[in-house]
Amino acid sequence: MTVVTVIGGGLAGSEAAWQVAQRGLAVRLYEMRPQVMTPAHHTGDLAELVCSNSLGSALETTAGGLLKRELELMGSLILEAARRTQVPAGGALAVDRERFAQEVTCRVTSHPRIEVVREECRTIPEGIVVIATGPLTSPALSSTLQRITKAENLHFYDAAAPIVLGETVRYDLGFWGARYGKGSPDYFNCPLTKEEYLAFWNALVTAEVAPLHEHEVDPEGFPVFEGCLPVEVIAKRGQDALRYGPFRPVGLVDQEGRRPYAVLQLRRENTEATLFNLVGCQTRLKWGEQKRVFRMIPALQEAEFVRYGVMHRNTFINSPRVLTAGFQFREEGRLFLAGQVTGVEGYVESTASGLLAGVNAARLAQGQEPLVLPRESMLGSLAHYVSTADPEHFQPMNANFGILPPLDPPVRSKQERKLAYTQRALRVLAEFWQGVEEESTWRN
Ligand SMILES: Cc1cc2nc3c(=O)[nH]c(=O)nc-3n(C[C@H](O)[C@H](O)[C@H](O)COP(=O)(O)OP(=O)(O)OC[C@H]3O[C@@H](n4cnc5c(N)ncnc54)[C@H](O)[C@@H]3O)c2cc1C
Repeated sequence: MTVVTVIGGGLAGSEAAWQVAQRGLAVRLYEMRPQVMTPAHHTGDLAELVCSNSLGSALETTAGGLLKRELELMGSLILEAARRTQVPAGGALAVDRERFAQEVTCRVTSHPRIEVVREECRTIPEGIVVIATGPLTSPALSSTLQRITKAENLHFYDAAAPIVLGETVRYDLGFWGARYGKGSPDYFNCPLTKEEYLAFWNALVTAEVAPLHEHEVDPEGFPVFEGCLPVEVIAKRGQDALRYGPFRPVGLVDQEGRRPYAVLQLRRENTEATLFNLVGCQTRLKWGEQKRVFRMIPALQEAEFVRYGVMHRNTFINSPRVLTAGFQFREEGRLFLAGQVTGVEGYVESTASGLLAGVNAARLAQGQEPLVLPRESMLGSLAHYVSTADPEHFQPMNANFGILPPLDPPVRSKQERKLAYTQRALRVLAEFWQGVEEESTWRN
């Protein structure tokens, strides 16, 4: 019998192993804990949650809630375990973390077709393999990944600027244009007067930053971020530091031909231009603080943040260069990647990529084409994003409505729009998934 290997028994790997086994194939799942621990895990349980016990919003009209519904529709083990071990948390899906991890461990280890091997995988085994070793992939396997993805496509730190929803930017309070008019006018420029700049600068240098994890500081206690400084650290060098750095106005003139005192540039994050990145604003401010401080920029006063800036240890590959929307390596089709290491971000997003990678590994083993999910679904759009985003500026992405294809016709009210996105996603995915299931029943 064909054996599919899964490396890493976290959220993505446990889900992937389950999906493969449920499709009638044997699975060998390698998990290095408890023999070799990561800097963030504390137990030997599969699917240990390393930080919060919340899997985010469960409300259907949120992007996270929609992704959970999609996972349930496709038969996710992790979502089922989360529902069974749920604790009251308002609109969020929070779990009793120990019972949750034990439930997943018990279901996976007792599956008749899954063999769990408690060993560190330092190289990639033969045959069909799903690599799901997470943001804290062991150094030996990171070197192997570096080799197969080519060194420049593997990142060890996430230094991401916030991303805002395009439709919430005040376009009447800025102007389009590239610096010195060079190239096409793809940037949206958010100008600040001297007063606005100083108020923003003051807020930025006094805002609260997120604490560092133990494994993110060197022996002297300094953060170990490669070469890239948080915007608040640049700002602390002096009142004008940003005006000579990421907020420099040189080469930019507004519609009246005036050069602003300072300018924040927004860069398109996706081809549809529904999402924009705050150029040069990689930050470690707490999330609430990011919203408060960046909304002081006039054009961003109503901005909705779909992803906050982060700077933390995170192993992930430059997926747009190497992966398909089925989480399969383009050059070596027997290999699949799943979880945070693909450039999706978050517990549920990692689980979701594990589900699709597992389904596709099983399909490949059974001589079928790997699936690409419809773009209208949240998982389909996440997979599309990680496989097609601009590789020059690729940063991990979480579930959000900005990555979905726009509605046709557009819906004006925000609440109704979210509902319309959700209804469209679930309808299209349900139809697609029914077709997939009918095909496999017919084959058997
Ligand atoms: C410190 C930290 C805190 C986070 N907090 C949150 C949060 O609160 N909410 C949220 O949504 N997301 C959070 N994340 C991001 C992310 O969602 C989680 O890391 C999530 O667990 C990723 O799932 P995964 O399956 O990709 O990786 P993991 O869950 O980390 O699973 C990877 C598994 O692979 C194993 N492994 C690694 N290398 C090898 C090897 N060579 N051989 C065999 N096994 C190996 C590891 O032991 C681990 O069990 C956090 C990340 C970190 C690092």
